[in-house]
Amino acid sequence: MAYDENNIFARILRGELPCKKLYEDEFALAFPDIMPQAPIHVLVIPKGKYISIEDFGASATPAEIAGLFRAVSTVAKQVGVAETGFRLISNSGPDSRQSVPHCHVHILGGHQMGISLAPA
Ligand code: 5GP
Repeated sequence: MAYDENNIFARILRGELPCKKLYEDEFALAFPDIMPQAPIHVLVIPKGKYISIEDFGASATPAEIAGLFRAVSTVAKQVGVAETGFRLISNSGPDSRQSVPHCHVHILGGHQMGISLAPA
């Protein structure tokens, strides 16, 4: 599957669509999810053109990989969940219901979560 240059996060990265920027560096951008599933729900996306976390892990450079995960820790601290805890989720591919085909991780926190990963 080829990278879709017009996916929503590609358009956010190009500045064609707005987002409430929480953090940005040369490797990553972080902004709140438009439909939050927890009191804190932030998306962290790499700037590189990777379709999913699977694609990212397979093809990104070590610097890009470090950059994304450094950004996660920075953002977790910034939004106040570094100490209280958070869940890091990355949907990858059809079974996960990934809906935007640009690699991203969800930081979810702000309350205690259940453990269910039951099938739909
Ligand atoms: P996925 O389902 O691919 O793991 O997650 C995509 C996430 O992107 C969803 O949680 C959805 O709410 C969020 N999302 C989709 N479009 C936009 C948008 O235009 N702006 C923001 N901030 N979030 C979006």
